[in-house]
Amino acid sequence: MPFRDVIGHRPIVALLARSIARDSLPPSLIFAGPAGVGKRLVATSLAQALNCLNPDPSPQPLVPSPQRPDVDSCGTCAACTRIARGVHPDVLVLEPGDTGSIKIEQVREVVDRAAYRPFEGRRRVVVIDEADALVPAAQNALLKTLEEPPSMSVFVLVTARPDALLPTVRSRCPRLNFRPLSPDEIALALVARGQTETAARAVAAAADGSLGRALDASADDFVQARELAGLVLARAASTTDPRRRIEGAKDLLANTGGSGASDRSQVTVHLRAMASLLRDIALLAARADAGRLANPDVRPALDRLTQTYQGDRGIRAFTAVDQAIVALERNVGVKTVADWLVLEL
Ligand SMILES: [Zn+2]
Repeated sequence: MPFRDVIGHRPIVALLARSIARDSLPPSLIFAGPAGVGKRLVATSLAQALNCLNPDPSPQPLVPSPQRPDVDSCGTCAACTRIARGVHPDVLVLEPGDTGSIKIEQVREVVDRAAYRPFEGRRRVVVIDEADALVPAAQNALLKTLEEPPSMSVFVLVTARPDALLPTVRSRCPRLNFRPLSPDEIALALVARGQTETAARAVAAAADGSLGRALDASADDFVQARELAGLVLARAASTTDPRRRIEGAKDLLANTGGSGASDRSQVTVHLRAMASLLRDIALLAARADAGRLANPDVRPALDRLTQTYQGDRGIRAFTAVDQAIVALERNVGVKTVADWLVLEL
């Protein structure tokens, strides 16, 4: 995908494009940041920008952007499409195999290939995805190449856990830090892929900054999760009677009854939606700019809930939801967590 169509990460994309334009791109880079935010995608965009046969930005970006990158790929020429499909001879992608690790033999092979001039393209790009999966011996095998890279090659190490790389590897690669995407950016990306505004907003609010997670999700699930979360908050606001509150826990447990793991992930989706509503409520209570809301499409419900959950109670509720998500990650049963949470709201 051309730089101009990448969702979010504008400073990083602008920096890469400028470096290409000035021929000052470092020969090895670390793309660090949370999973699912688009690091590998940007690495692919970089490979396209370096090898596009027709590097002339089209006037119509997928999503309007205030800044146009200095250099960009066309996204449609033979080189761009082959890179996108993973079959360009000069763009090599290394990723963990079935064992979950990247072995020294895999590294030796790409290092050997990187020593030759590119076959077709202008620059050979080696993308090492999940680079933290490189076994230490493989990292050591890479060191010399990172130190004295072949002149026509660029190495990009993509990782959500940069600290798992050897210090010797880290010190040789400038690091670009990718941040979680904002709910607005994720919603924009989903709308561009054909989702309705309401569905996109609900999914984006619960995706925790990860477009990957948002794309994996079914929009209907998220719309329903947000409705349930709002219902549980409203019920807890309406009564202090513990028995009636526990009734609300049943809503949180909707669509469970399968395996422990799938139940926990289902309830986590409900809780993330609830956390997102509570975050919006805090913004409204603080009279912050409504443009920052993650769920602007359910504003009337947010306004009603704000009457109860502003101030300390909102903070307590948000903390409790957070603790509940952590408890689920630690394998506490869904019913225990749901019953506890509704009493804390
Ligand atoms: Zn192209």
